[in-house]
Amino acid sequence: MHEMSIVSGILDIAENEARSAGARVINSVEIEVGQLAGVEILSLEFCFEVARRGTLAEQAELVIHEIPGLGHCPDCGRDVEVDYFMAVCPACGQGLVEILQGKELRVRSINVD
Ligand SMILES: [Zn+2]
Repeated sequence: MHEMSIVSGILDIAENEARSAGARVINSVEIEVGQLAGVEILSLEFCFEVARRGTLAEQAELVIHEIPGLGHCPDCGRDVEVDYFMAVCPACGQGLVEILQGKELRVRSINVD
């Protein structure tokens, strides 16, 4: 499962941060997931529940911030909302939108004790 490897990566980052801060417990992990990142939130949450067992994040809450897709049309110059990474401009129907935002997949912050 694609989401499982993403979660492993997130847990690695969180545990490294926690250890270098001398923490024993991770309380929460906040991540940013772009709507164009190709990640299923429900699947991500499920994988987190499974993968956190036996880690410092065993009791941690996963906080997901969804970042909406945003693009720029080179033809009409407008910034438009997009929900697909190869979107045609919804304003003029001509340009292939350049993605400005929405492909994010990163750890925003972690809270440790
Ligand atoms: Zn356009």
